Amino acid sequence: MIIENIETFLVRIPFDTGAAKRELGGRTWQTLDYVFIRIDTDTGISGWGDAFAYGAAQATKAALDHMITPALIGADISDIDAIHTQLQRDNHLFGRYGVTMFAISGIDIALWDIAGKAAGLPLHQMLGGKVRDGLPAYASLFRYGDPEQVAAVTKKAVDEGYTHIKLHETGIAEVESCRRTGGDDMAIMLDVNCAWDFDGALDMASQLADFDLYWFEEPVFPPEDFKALAKLKDQGGIPIAAGENACTAFEFNQMFDAGAVTYAQPSVTKVGGISQFQKILASAKSAGVKVMPHSPYFGPGFVATLHLAAAMEDESLIEYFYLQPEAFPMGKWSQPEGDVFKVPDGPGLGCDPDPDVMRDYAVSGN
Ligand SMILES: [Mg+2]
Repeated sequence: MIIENIETFLVRIPFDTGAAKRELGGRTWQTLDYVFIRIDTDTGISGWGDAFAYGAAQATKAALDHMITPALIGADISDIDAIHTQLQRDNHLFGRYGVTMFAISGIDIALWDIAGKAAGLPLHQMLGGKVRDGLPAYASLFRYGDPEQVAAVTKKAVDEGYTHIKLHETGIAEVESCRRTGGDDMAIMLDVNCAWDFDGALDMASQLADFDLYWFEEPVFPPEDFKALAKLKDQGGIPIAAGENACTAFEFNQMFDAGAVTYAQPSVTKVGGISQFQKILASAKSAGVKVMPHSPYFGPGFVATLHLAAAMEDESLIEYFYLQPEAFPMGKWSQPEGDVFKVPDGPGLGCDPDPDVMRDYAVSGN
């Protein structure tokens, strides 16, 4: 099968959190920005991918358009592993992590979608077979910085049936508010997005001891300080989760060798797509680490995460970004029923992005 054409699309979808928007990278976070990729082959089969974007959407798209896709036109894609390895080799001088790997991730997901469509098999079948139908979700809340708003959104999530809630807060008052509202049986995860150094994180861990956290996510900066994470895991008394800022199985192996985490959080749109995610699953298994995918997005990468989770030996929680986008590019597949997701059974990803959403939310002139 030969690649005839590759197109990249910038899609920007406004969202509502029920509160003021927060800062992200020095700017107010107003929209969900995506870079979607469509690869067309000479067989008439097209596949869709999704490269991590957020505030780096234009940069990720430029990496795809100028660094990655030109060399792929005319390529034979019957061996995804060979293509993937070549992409990593050809582009390593532009950075092994960040937008280069985001772009390669998007291509890899599209190649797996094509492979599934060509074989007439859903992706979960290509990955070893579906172990489960219903995939339990957790509500991954926006950062509010306000105990009252945390209580209101926690109540909404609990009323919808969620038993696991993740906060993106750095204050004790917000955690306390969530626990008081959700009750003692609710699982609370706390993600602080690398807020502190080791000493600061250890101090916070002791202040958080009474809240019985399910996990403490990315407590230290820089995120690749695996020694600090390992020390915190040993001394802080709370299970540690991390991995959304790691790329490639190679970096995850370093994380596992250091004993840094209880829960590994690979993001399929960042780590190098499905190919690398699978390698990470194998390494995590031999290291005795549970995998909890990072997936606060709504595009083809989210659906790829559902397939990966459906085929995983151990049950994993699906991260559902608990906000209200104006539109869902993958339709019903990126929305749970209660707190449970279903995985598509059609070939490949089992669904393509909604052309109406692609048209209505396209960034003009991109
Ligand atoms: Mg996180």
